[in-house]
Amino acid sequence: MNPTEPSRRRFLQLALASAAGLTLVNHASASAALPHLAVDDPTAKALGYVENAAKVDPAKEAAFKKGTNCASCALYTAAQAEGGYAPCAAFPGKAVAAKGWCRAYAPKA
Ligand code: SF4
Repeated sequence: MNPTEPSRRRFLQLALASAAGLTLVNHASASAALPHLAVDDPTAKALGYVENAAKVDPAKEAAFKKGTNCASCALYTAAQAEGGYAPCAAFPGKAVAAKGWCRAYAPKA
């Protein structure tokens, strides 16, 4: 029997455990909920973001079409939605409301 065998086996066990741990940490970070976009965020204000598209006045927002909202926008990542909010390509690092709307709205193809 090789006297180094136990330490080699132990090393491999630790390496596998570390790799498994890193995989779990990476998965947890990827699925962590993003902060919600605040309506008073400067970019949100510039694009007229609201959390409830039903409250948009079409007379004041020429770009708004009744019945549209973030959930039907091409920039909304519905697959990552959590609690009615999901990432939006127009606001990196933030989650927007499915019922929201802004002037960057782009209908899904
Ligand atoms: Fe909503 Fe689309 Fe505006 Fe993003 S770009 S906030 S998904 S309407």
